[in-house]
Amino acid sequence: MKVLIVGGGIAGTSLAILLARAGVDVELAELKPTWTALGSGITLQGNALRVLRDLGVWPRVEAEGYAFDSVGIQTPTGELLFESQDIKSGGPDLPASLGMYRPALCSVLVEAAENAGAELMLGRTVTSVDPVAFDDGTTGEYDLVIGADGIRSSVREMIGIDTRPQPVGMGAWRAHVPRPARVRRTELMYGGPCYIAGYCPTGEDSIYAYLVDKVTDQAVIPRERLAAMMRELARPYGGAWEEIKPTITDDAPINYTHFEWLLVDGPWNRGNVLLLGDALHACPPTLAQGAAQCLEDASVLAELLLESGTADQKLFDEFRDRRIDRIRTVVDTSLQIARWQMEPGPDADVPGAMARVAAMMTALP
Ligand SMILES: Cc1cc2nc3c(=O)[nH]c(=O)nc-3n(C[C@H](O)[C@H](O)[C@H](O)COP(=O)(O)OP(=O)(O)OC[C@H]3O[C@@H](n4cnc5c(N)ncnc54)[C@H](O)[C@@H]3O)c2cc1C
Repeated sequence: MKVLIVGGGIAGTSLAILLARAGVDVELAELKPTWTALGSGITLQGNALRVLRDLGVWPRVEAEGYAFDSVGIQTPTGELLFESQDIKSGGPDLPASLGMYRPALCSVLVEAAENAGAELMLGRTVTSVDPVAFDDGTTGEYDLVIGADGIRSSVREMIGIDTRPQPVGMGAWRAHVPRPARVRRTELMYGGPCYIAGYCPTGEDSIYAYLVDKVTDQAVIPRERLAAMMRELARPYGGAWEEIKPTITDDAPINYTHFEWLLVDGPWNRGNVLLLGDALHACPPTLAQGAAQCLEDASVLAELLLESGTADQKLFDEFRDRRIDRIRTVVDTSLQIARWQMEPGPDADVPGAMARVAAMMTALP
């Protein structure tokens, strides 16, 4: 089988590893000219770690990341209100959660894809998928084309699926900064001026700290103003934020993102072109399950493809049937938690919703 993967994010590189190491001829076209990944930290839940272990990269992820098994909910001044022992959704021999520097995860996956024998083409995209034509004028023939090109997928557009990302009404400020010694797990502060003030350790020496607030009316915030704006939003918060705030310096790596969501409801393929990962489904990171679902997509699709050896409509339908309920639960619950933040009410039960989803994720995808 000859497979083309368009997009070298978490979904695309994971699928490339699983297929290439089983002897499938895999080419991957990534639009960016280098692998330098943007972003700060990422929280990987147990079910994501289970797939990373299957990919053979768990020893490096474990060494480079920071594992923990509980989450704290705090007041804006840093008093602990509630401690939740997290469900180990990847099984008892993996931690419940692990924080990692996102570019480090990207390097681990890219290196593993190369070692597995996938042909990685940087600075390359497709101008058409049926037949396949690349932007350098060359063409190719493939048994299967995967659109793993993220939430604004061009492949999705090329095959005429008109689902588009929808705004959630929230935006997040994220900074990758040194770890105060007392930060040993994710802690979330509710009830302050922002919807959420949180942080997650990403290694022995680092954390990502984030503030989730209503969307700013500025479409693009100039790079040089990001730190000052984040410091101002963080000003009322206490606890570990007292140590975090001075490290949000003007030259600290900070980014601002609007939250969006998306779920392709109908078929996920057209002919032999299939979507994967955020190109199919995306949610606000209120459950930290987006990348986990991308990893599970890659794992299930690779299993089905390697079993059947044929990429046909039966396989595409089976893939969708195996994935849709789980993904819909993650998208709906992530949106529900976001709504509870924006419009608090007596029925809001964020820890309960998180625990229900984590329990569901313990089952294999
Ligand atoms: C603020 C924020 C925080 C998040 N935090 C978490 C978290 O803590 N835990 C978690 O599990 N999930 C989290 N997520 C979700 C997670 O980041 C995504 O689900 C995941 O990264 C999607 O992976 P992907 O490979 O499908 O897409 P992407 O990561 O978007 O990768 C797509 C790749 O395709 C490339 N590409 C784009 N267009 C083309 C093209 N035309 N041709 C070729 N290549 C192309 C891009 O350059 C990119 O490399 C978060 C999301 C956001 C927005």
